[in-house]
Amino acid sequence: MASQKLGLVFFPAFDWAISPAHPEREERLLYTRDQIVEEGLLDMPCIREYKPQIAQYKDLERVHIGVPDLSSLITDAHLVSAGGAIAAADAVMRREVDRAFALVRPPGHHAMRVVHGTRGFCTINIEAIMVEYLRKNYGIGKVAIVDTDVHHGDGTQDVFYHDPNTLFISFHQDGRTLYPGTGFTNEMGSPNAIGTTLNIPLPPGTTDAGLHEVLDHLILPVLNDFKPDIIINSAGQDNHYSDPLANMAITAQGYARLADKLKADIAVLEGGYSIENALPYVNVGIILAMARMDYSKVIEPDIATCPVQSSAVTRSISAIIKERQNMWATKEKLQQEAIAKAGDFWQRGRNIYYDDAGIDERQKEVVRLCPHCSGYVTIETEAYGMFGYKSAYIATIPNQACPTCQKAAYDAVYKAKKQGKQQLYFVQNKMEDRLEIL
Ligand SMILES: [Zn+2]
Ligand SMILES: [Zn+2]
Repeated sequence: MASQKLGLVFFPAFDWAISPAHPEREERLLYTRDQIVEEGLLDMPCIREYKPQIAQYKDLERVHIGVPDLSSLITDAHLVSAGGAIAAADAVMRREVDRAFALVRPPGHHAMRVVHGTRGFCTINIEAIMVEYLRKNYGIGKVAIVDTDVHHGDGTQDVFYHDPNTLFISFHQDGRTLYPGTGFTNEMGSPNAIGTTLNIPLPPGTTDAGLHEVLDHLILPVLNDFKPDIIINSAGQDNHYSDPLANMAITAQGYARLADKLKADIAVLEGGYSIENALPYVNVGIILAMARMDYSKVIEPDIATCPVQSSAVTRSISAIIKERQNMWATKEKLQQEAIAKAGDFWQRGRNIYYDDAGIDERQKEVVRLCPHCSGYVTIETEAYGMFGYKSAYIATIPNQACPTCQKAAYDAVYKAKKQGKQQLYFVQNKMEDRLEIL
């Protein structure tokens, strides 16, 4: 097996923590780094290490609207973590390496488009920022993001929910049993993008066998069908059997074989909190698989404690695979029905909780179902927390928006400003690559 050139980016963020004893802490990366050095991986000719870059606010604002602004909500560590993902993307796009893995923190996949604070340890969405960077700087069109963290990637789903050119696949422990309590099969994308959000909630106790059934019979065929220009892996490792925050039973071998089959161009680290017993093995397994080297000897010392999959879990996984295959096969019909039902506009109201900041957000989102483009989106947001009350009215103009939608988005914000119900008024104009405060 010929090896491939793999770029690695490390950023353990020594000066960033939610609290000193928090499970999301710098040791998550330090044990991995030790293991990688011990195995001699950094001396291999096919592995090249890159320093993270520092992301610019412009990069962040292609994805996020911070209320009142991003700079009051993030630290320098967030800019470096997002810059780590960007460095991985640049290394691949410049063809210096075949693939890259950004082992960085703070993580990002629970951060949504509108940001009032930190939720699920995430403030800005580093994969989403990287995806929009790739689109802006390298003209990448179709993107697939496969989120292999045990928690539903609700932030990434939110950012791309109306984007038919981004396929977001997330498998995770069923939201009825785990944070953030979303990621169900009826969340499929808004009408213009139906099918490009694919949630695969799995029962607690899913093992390598169950996961690879899902991969072989659902995820890989869907990817093959969608034909993305690039595949991104949100590589969370908290599906491991020893993870203290979840109840799944995946091994380092299971993760390495997953990376081997997925063939992601870029992987970005997400969660994983079994700092000594899982992370060094899972990360080394993924690195070897991404570099197409032999990973068969990467075995956890306590592998005997990994549970076996019950027949009830196996049955439940088979049922979900069947249901999702059916959804994918009939998505055009589902889309026609959804558009016919919604008419010119589709809307949803949501409550979003920021567990790390004690903030409750109420949001109303309206999407123009335009026949000529993916349609502009307006968001009314209000948030209550220790800081008091914050509110904003936002319009997002997507890439390749038609002239009518571009104008209508501005009209909507001017009209809202005239009514004066919110404190702040934004237009996130992706066509002109700027965030405007009106
Ligand atoms: Zn997680
Ligand atoms: Zn339009």
